[in-house]
Amino acid sequence: MKRVILHIDMDAFFAQVEQMKNPALRGKPIIVGGDAGHRGVVAACSYEARRYGIHSAMSSTEARRRCPHAIFVGGNLTNYVYISAQILDILNNYTPIVEPASIDEAYLDVTDSYQLYKNPKNLAKHLKQCIKNKLQLTCTVGIAENKLLAKTASDMNKPDGLNTLWMHELEDKFFPMEIRKLRGVGPQTEKALLGLGIKTIGDLKDYPEKKLSQHFGLHGEHLSRMARGLSDTPVHSYDEMEDEKSMSHEHTLYEDSSDLIFLKSLLITLTDKVVTRLKKAQFLARTVRLKVRYSDFKTITREVTLNSMTDDVTTIYKTALGLLPEKDILTKKVRLIGIGVTKLHGSVETPQIELFDEDSISKKRKCGDVVEDIRDKYGKFSIVRASSLPYRWEH
Ligand SMILES: [Mg+2]
Repeated sequence: MKRVILHIDMDAFFAQVEQMKNPALRGKPIIVGGDAGHRGVVAACSYEARRYGIHSAMSSTEARRRCPHAIFVGGNLTNYVYISAQILDILNNYTPIVEPASIDEAYLDVTDSYQLYKNPKNLAKHLKQCIKNKLQLTCTVGIAENKLLAKTASDMNKPDGLNTLWMHELEDKFFPMEIRKLRGVGPQTEKALLGLGIKTIGDLKDYPEKKLSQHFGLHGEHLSRMARGLSDTPVHSYDEMEDEKSMSHEHTLYEDSSDLIFLKSLLITLTDKVVTRLKKAQFLARTVRLKVRYSDFKTITREVTLNSMTDDVTTIYKTALGLLPEKDILTKKVRLIGIGVTKLHGSVETPQIELFDEDSISKKRKCGDVVEDIRDKYGKFSIVRASSLPYRWEH
């Protein structure tokens, strides 16, 4: 059966959130990340800044050189996570099959729900308008029969775009594209393909699959399928991800509580425990999940997928804070709180790229490693975080 998949990508997400919070920044070149004075890098930049050739992961010094009047703003992870969770809440109104791909991207399988909006394009328009009305943010939507083409469709039409890439449109829109635009084709593969005279996705599609396999092994078969626009990876919703490799800690309170200072200190204690396990197992995580059970036993789970892998306690804690439903907690007491991480990868083979203030995070990470060493040597309560004390005092 023909599937209908949407790829939602927020436009210059961090920069747009800053512009939404502070209207004085609208229409201006905004750079989110470390200032040029430090060894910082650009975590994100507004479309106004992109006109100067600035892009994410560029050094702040270079960005400052290209656009001296750019405005630098420090990132606020908790706030971005908070908005990201609100976006996911909106997306969930359109289909239960929503897969967050990063803090500002998600895939939706709307095969069974688009009829409510007559056609997929109408659903996408409705969704874009809803995000704009509720959060004053724009996004780009790609629509296609699979994830690969949906993502390609949105990439082609940023910002504030809406683009389809159906199978019957491949001839016009997909095959003429340069080979480096195909997902999974990095600089190395691009070079090798160009060496074989393959310049466009269409060239790759027409190249004998057998010959590709000789050059690229299993990857050759995969490349050939992608060049034909084929991909059958399903959109995984939250619930299906439950059995994924994950690490979590939760705690049932002795007495139900609405005290945010107390709950936050409990949260950092739990984060600490999760990070100890992550580091011991030499894993990095990309998704942070928060679980809250209220006194009426209603339980909610919220999660966010970050743009990079981490085992940093501050990053994970700040992410969890963005997911904490503070308003609801003030009116309903909490009975249990839990934090978990998933999408784990071995820390040995995966580089950690931190986009916010690189320097201080790597120092914090080293500090985290030292803390673990002390606990190994002198016991787990030999060193604790000051911010976890309100929780510890009660026990
Ligand atoms: Mg984006």
